[in-house]
Amino acid sequence: MKFVLVSGGVISGVGKGIIASSTGLLLKAKGLTVTSIKIDPYINLDAGTMAPTEHGEVYVTDDGGEMDLDLGNYERYLLTTLTRDHNITTGKIYQQVIERERRGDYLGKTVQVVPHVTNAIQDWIERVAKIPVDESGLEPDVCVIELGGTVGDIESAPFIHAISQLQRRAGKGNFVQIFVSYIPVVQGEQKTKPTQRAVSDIRSAGLTPDLIACRCDQPVNVGTIQKVANMCQVEQKQIVAVHNVSTTYHVPLLLDKQKLLDTLGDFLDLKSIEIPAERI
Ligand code: ADP
Repeated sequence: MKFVLVSGGVISGVGKGIIASSTGLLLKAKGLTVTSIKIDPYINLDAGTMAPTEHGEVYVTDDGGEMDLDLGNYERYLLTTLTRDHNITTGKIYQQVIERERRGDYLGKTVQVVPHVTNAIQDWIERVAKIPVDESGLEPDVCVIELGGTVGDIESAPFIHAISQLQRRAGKGNFVQIFVSYIPVVQGEQKTKPTQRAVSDIRSAGLTPDLIACRCDQPVNVGTIQKVANMCQVEQKQIVAVHNVSTTYHVPLLLDKQKLLDTLGDFLDLKSIEIPAERI
């Protein structure tokens, strides 16, 4: 199993869901079987009790799960049918850990965020990533995980810890991280400082982005891309630029034009996956 983690910084609603779905679509177009998991670090069990004015419309999966609209993007982009378990919230994880504690599963140990909550997160991801979600009925090759919220939020900390452990468990060639950042335009100038700070924050939180996706209201200048690469100490090819487009269905094309899959291939050993000829 290979994992693509999409996280984000600077502002909420930066476009993580669309970039995660579009990346999944490009992998699917290559013949891979792709699934997705959305992590929402809030304490609500699900989005069912949240006001639409606060959270946007609730998306309902076939099994009656009430969740974030991003799950709908995944299903539409990837032609999959997801379950309520494909959405992980802090509430769901804590509910599971507390039920286990009441049953005595921890054998008298002090139950702690590390390792009990972080292990529960990893186990949940590994279990759900294997569920077949499309008409092939096959176990997915790749799982795209979107970490909701913005890096630096207190609520995200256990998930970031769990994900860095998951990365180690998955091993080299099986894990890639895309960090979505925002480039504001102030008096006509594209500003990179918020991205530099956000990348530094995510690194100090324990995750190292392999690709930085720069979201901007306007096409990102070459100079801006060079500056982000220099200041964040990554190669220029590790930056993808995603400007505002008239429909979000254009985003996969935008990523494809920038050879996203080639860059992903530098981190994910995609060649090790055998793809049946009829799926190519
Ligand atoms: P996040 O997952 O970071 O909260 P979303 O992917 O849900 O963000 O995107 C937030 C909003 O921005 C959505 O309404 C989405 O349609 C819109 N959006 C995302 N990317 C683009 C883009 N490249 N161009 C135009 N609108 C976009």
